[in-house]
Formats: sequence, structure tokens, C-alpha cells
Amino acid sequence: TSALRRKCVLGNWKMNGSLAANASLLEALVAALGKVQNVDVGVAVPFPYLAQAQQALGGSPVRWGAQDVSAHASGAYTGEVAGPMLVDFGASFVLVGHSERRSLHGETSDVVADKAKAALAAGLTPVVCVGETLAEREAGTTLAVIGEQLAPVLALGADAVKRMIVAYEPVWAIGTGRTASPEQAQEVHAAIRERLRQAGAGEVQVLYGGSVKAANAASLFAMADIDGGLVGGASLDAQDFAGIVAAA
Ligand code: PGA
Repeated sequence: TSALRRKCVLGNWKMNGSLAANASLLEALVAALGKVQNVDVGVAVPFPYLAQAQQALGGSPVRWGAQDVSAHASGAYTGEVAGPMLVDFGASFVLVGHSERRSLHGETSDVVADKAKAALAAGLTPVVCVGETLAEREAGTTLAVIGEQLAPVLALGADAVKRMIVAYEPVWAIGTGRTASPEQAQEVHAAIRERLRQAGAGEVQVLYGGSVKAANAASLFAMADIDGGLVGGASLDAQDFAGIVAAA
């Protein structure tokens, strides 16, 4: 915990929801979190529901964003969504390089850096996701993998990196119910913090993600370099999500 860094809890809805289901979830989020002050809170929704999120969350302290963004600002990129389009719907942040984008859609760390740059150019906060697989952890290469994932992003320069958020999400902990222990997470967060510091951006928020729940959030968020969470499954229930925010 740092006096300089605010805690931040972001929900990642992934490819879940419907107009009807979102209406109750968003209403419950505003009821539970409408007065939150000391924590940055937001939800990353599927593209078609940005307008619904804007309508429901506008005027509340809960922000909204997207789960991916094109590396390009406009043009012949069928199926892609550009940063300025997200801004049109009031989005303030966007996830880039989530492990599901990297593994299922072949996003390289260079592409992730291009997307982070495009997000910044549009005025969005990129939430750069990094994390090792179980095989990489067992091979002892976790910190090397994270370093490689971060390198092209850090190469964007201190002025850019200072406007980002980093999320450490060990792939083996995502959606598995198996959370990194606070000590395991802290070890990686400290290494990420050191790289950020060397890049001139040591006070960037670094979030932990991977099976965060109300029951384990407080012990994770108490670690020196863990500034909050990126929450998948538990962000689909307003009470669970509010419980995590309360732990921050
Ligand atoms: P999870 O997902 O909380 O369901 O493990 C986290 C994420 O993928 O961002």
C-alpha cells in the first residue's frame, strides 16, 4: 500500500451479459457503489453495451470501459473498434493484452504495446495485462516472461507509461478458482514495480487479477505493491464485486 497510489478495482465482464441482465447488474452496482470515494472503480463491458453502461453509470463514480481496442484510429479494419469510438460512449479505460486475447487471438506483446499507444492517443487509460502460464511458472521463467511482455510497452516512454495501469494476471489463476497467494503475487508485483521505476513510472497502479473474490481480496490488497484488482467472474455479481471494492 502506498500513500501515493489510490486503490483501483476493475471488473472484466468478458463475453457475458444481455440488455436485461446488465440492467439489473448496473442498477445494483450504482446502489452498492454510488458513493464510493477512495477507490477507483470501473467495469469493462462488451462493446455493444457501452451505451447502456454510459446511460446507467453516468453521474455515478463507477467508470466504464472496454476489453480491447484497435491499434488503429480508423479505416479499413473490418470488425475492429477504435479508441475514439470508445471515447464517444464515455469510456475512460480499456484492457489491452488480456491473456485470452494473447492466447486465443494471437496478440503479441508488440501488438499490445501498439494498442496501449492507440488507447492513450484517444485519451483512454490502457490497462496492460501481463501474466505467465503454469508451465512458465513451473519452469521458473515467470519474471523473464513478464519482463518480455512489458518491454515494448515500457519502450513507449515514461510520459506514456505514467498514464497506464498494469494488471498482473497469472494465467493459471484466471477463472480457475486458484488464486496466487498474496506472497506469490507480491513477488511479481515488486518486480513489475521495479521495471516501472526504471522506466520512470514507478507510481503506476499495478492490479492483481485471477480468481479475486471478496474472501481473498483484503489479504491481496494489503501487499505493498498490489494496488487493487482486475476481477472477472466475481464482477458479474454486484454484491460480490462491492465486497471486493470494500476490501480495497
Ligand atoms: P477471474 O478473471 O476473476 O474470473 O479469474 C480475471 C480476468 O481474466 O481478468
